Amino acid sequence: MKRCTRCVLPETFPGIKFDDEGVCNFCRAYKGREHLDKSREKYRKRFDDLLAKHRRKGGYDALMAYSGGKDSTYTMAVLRNTYNMSILALTIDNGFVSPQALENSRKVVEGLGVDYVLYKPRLDVLSKLFLYTAEKNIYSKKGLERASSICTTCMGIVKFVALRMAIESGIPFITYGWSPGQAPIESSIFRNNPEMIKKMQDAYIQPMKQVVGDEIYNYFLTEEHFGMADQFPYNVNPLAFLEYDEHSVMQQISAMGWEKPDDTDPNSTNCLLNALGIKVHKEKFGFHPYVHELANLVRKGYMDRAEALARLEEETDPKIVDMVQKRLEKGVKTSTT
Ligand SMILES: [Zn+2]
Repeated sequence: MKRCTRCVLPETFPGIKFDDEGVCNFCRAYKGREHLDKSREKYRKRFDDLLAKHRRKGGYDALMAYSGGKDSTYTMAVLRNTYNMSILALTIDNGFVSPQALENSRKVVEGLGVDYVLYKPRLDVLSKLFLYTAEKNIYSKKGLERASSICTTCMGIVKFVALRMAIESGIPFITYGWSPGQAPIESSIFRNNPEMIKKMQDAYIQPMKQVVGDEIYNYFLTEEHFGMADQFPYNVNPLAFLEYDEHSVMQQISAMGWEKPDDTDPNSTNCLLNALGIKVHKEKFGFHPYVHELANLVRKGYMDRAEALARLEEETDPKIVDMVQKRLEKGVKTSTT
């Protein structure tokens, strides 16, 4: 398969064009490291200012969307140790979290001194949603360029459950551990806007309601939440503007007792379901759902091209995919009501 000679995007990636040197249009449009570093500086300052303004005396400063994976572990450690923030960590157990990841989460929250909520939505409801969204195309093509449909479903639930919780508790920031390849710096800090959130959640609820009925409303905002517009938090994705180097991330979190699970696919350090998400996505769209992130990391100088290629070429263990598929099919039948 032909790939960009600078990043790793393949010829099957939507909208890609190569020039005579085999460099893709996305690499040509990239403004360079100096420009990126200036933006990062600007967003670091913005975060400092917002934190100074909204830091609470009593009560949590941030609700950390905490997967237990390497990036969110590192992010939470920086927020705690460098920014001295008071944090409530929220992990959503989608039924497919690696046992090692749950063990890691427990160690990390204890070590960092943060309170921790483990929220586990009904397995039958989630299983139905995962199977349905893996099969039907309910998401925009643009969104699916950067994540599998299964991941998108799960993240939708995570985002709205976190938002609900932050609004109810008056927590001013929701923090995420997206790598600098997953989310652009321009969206690394923004205030949640009730009107936009309403539109977004309606787009999720409409198709999902057909599969699981009114149960879906438990994971989204109610009219009551929308009535508390002044409590809508900021979303912050610190790794877009802080230092990020995967090797140093691994070193630092290992020192906290974090251990890499050996049962996940190479692109996840917490979720078993990811393996199936990747398989389905590759079959359906002809490109790896992580290639957008890895290409970004390479382009921006956060990762070696060879390393990204190795990650993309690593085969997913068919045993994990098989186990996940069986658990989903069983999960659908776990409840009769
Ligand atoms: Zn490229």
